[in-house]
Amino acid sequence: KPVAVINDVYKIYQKNKDAPAVHALDGVSVTIPEGQYLAIMGPSGSGKSTLMNMLGCLDRPTKGDYLVDGTNVAQMNDEDLSQIRGQKLGFVFQAFNLIPQLTVLENVQVPLFYQGLPKHLREEAAKDALSKVSLSDRLTHRPSQLSGGQMQRVAIARALVNKPAILLADEPTGNLDSKTGNDILNMFDDLHRGGLTIIMVTHDESVADRCQRIIRLKDGKLDRDEMMQPTTA
Ligand code: ADP
Ligand code: ADP
Repeated sequence: KPVAVINDVYKIYQKNKDAPAVHALDGVSVTIPEGQYLAIMGPSGSGKSTLMNMLGCLDRPTKGDYLVDGTNVAQMNDEDLSQIRGQKLGFVFQAFNLIPQLTVLENVQVPLFYQGLPKHLREEAAKDALSKVSLSDRLTHRPSQLSGGQMQRVAIARALVNKPAILLADEPTGNLDSKTGNDILNMFDDLHRGGLTIIMVTHDESVADRCQRIIRLKDGKLDRDEMMQPTTA
C-alpha cells in the first residue's frame, strides 16, 4: 500500500510574464510504498529541495497530484496543508533547527502544541520519543549544552513525537562527523526496521547506499530510479 503517490507533478517558477519559466519539477511521478527507505539524489539545481518541499506539504505543485496516505493534498489551502504536516509528517534537517531557549523536553513537544493536548500527555509523548533516541537523561538540557549528534537525536525525537506516516530528512548527517553521522544512520535503520517510511535527501553515495531505493533527479526530471539489493548480513 503506497503512503505517498506523486503523479506527473510540475513546479514551475515564473517571476513575471516576461521572465523565463523555470521547471523546477518537470513531470515527476513516484510511488512510495509504506515502510520504504528512499534516498533522493541529484546535482545542485536538479529539483531536490522543490520535491522535498512538496513531499513535506510546505509547498504545492503547479500541476499534478500528490497523495499522502490516500489524501490528495495538491490543491489544499495553507491551513489544511499545515494540518496534514502535523498529522502525517516528521521533519529532520541538516542544521537540526532546535529552539535554543527551550529545553530538550520542550523542543520535542513543539509539534504537539497545535493539537490542544494537555500538558501531561504532551510530556508523556515527548519522554517516550526521547527514550527511543536514548536521551532520557537530557530532558532539562538546552540545545547549546548538547553535542551535534545529541541535537540531531532530539530533532529525530521531535520528528517522531506525532507518530508520522513519513519521516522526511534533508541531509541529516551533513553537519556531523562521520562517526556521529553513522550513529544517526544506524538509528534510521532501526526506525526503518520498525516499519517507518523514510525519505532522505543526500549528496553522499555511501549514505544513499544504505537506503532501499535511490531516485536521481536531473533538470527537474526523474533521471534514474533504482532498487538496491537487500544485503544479507
Ligand atoms: P536542488 O535542491 O536540487 O538544488 P532546487 O529544488 O532548489 O534544486 O531548485 C530547482 C530549480 O528551481 C533551480 O533551477 C532553482 O534555481 C529553481 N528554483 C527553486 N526555487 C525557486 C524559487 N522560489 N523561485 C525561482 N526559482 C526557483
Ligand atoms: P539546498 O541547499 O537544500 O540544495 P537550495 O540552496 O537549492 O537548497 O535552495 C534553498 C531554498 O531556496 C529552496 O527551498 C528554494 O525554494 C529556494 N531557491 C532556490 N533557488 C532559488 C531561486 N533561483 N530563486 C528563489 N528561490 C530559490
